[in-house]
Amino acid sequence: MAADRAVKRKRKGSGSTGQGGEVFLRQRTDPRSERRFEPKASLALGLTMLGMSVAALLAGAGVYGMWFRGEEAGSHPYAPYLLVVAVLLGAAAGLFGQWSMKPLRVGDAGVGIENGPGEIERIGWHDVTRLLLTEAALTVQGSGTAIAIPLRTHLPAASRVLAEARARVPARAADIQEGALPLPDDAAGEVRALEPPQVAGLRCKATDKLIAFEADARLCGRCGELYHKDGVPPNCATCAAPLR
Ligand SMILES: [Zn+2]
Repeated sequence: MAADRAVKRKRKGSGSTGQGGEVFLRQRTDPRSERRFEPKASLALGLTMLGMSVAALLAGAGVYGMWFRGEEAGSHPYAPYLLVVAVLLGAAAGLFGQWSMKPLRVGDAGVGIENGPGEIERIGWHDVTRLLLTEAALTVQGSGTAIAIPLRTHLPAASRVLAEARARVPARAADIQEGALPLPDDAAGEVRALEPPQVAGLRCKATDKLIAFEADARLCGRCGELYHKDGVPPNCATCAAPLR
């Protein structure tokens, strides 16, 4: 069947095509994959849990000392301090603690975060506006959304995100120094196949033509940008990868 024919092909000769002359145009049903990263339990998380537990204990003791010691004893003089310390500790643990224990996905469909069972929020590479690296996290910014990847619990995922962003949408990661994160480890993360994307009803990036049938869709294999089969430009409008 013509529609199932692989579109990927090698282009001979030199010319202005990318590394090795690879053409990145893909059919919607071409195989795609991603890696799933489980968070690493960290010292910070342990301390956060401990801080929360101690805060709860102190709060309990404070409340008891203040109001429940019986008529004759009255409230204990230290009780108000216990309550204040409990509130401060609880607030600090809540504000600065490590709470991102969600698994992450990195691959052909961009960067994803598992918000619940079967519920994955994704930012496609073509939707990434900027990557931001701080001491604590690598943040992937999309239009109107962002995914923060804490380095303490998700360093292997952060390394892979940065490396893939540099290869797929280099301009979006240009602010980040070379060697800022370790190179990705091919053994890290579990490789999973991706379902074909839902594209019917979306529009071609180059011509704005409505994609009424999924068979009419073409994808940039590098950044995931979407095109109608009649409107595929020579180079991807988003990442400049050669498409024809
Ligand atoms: Zn592209």
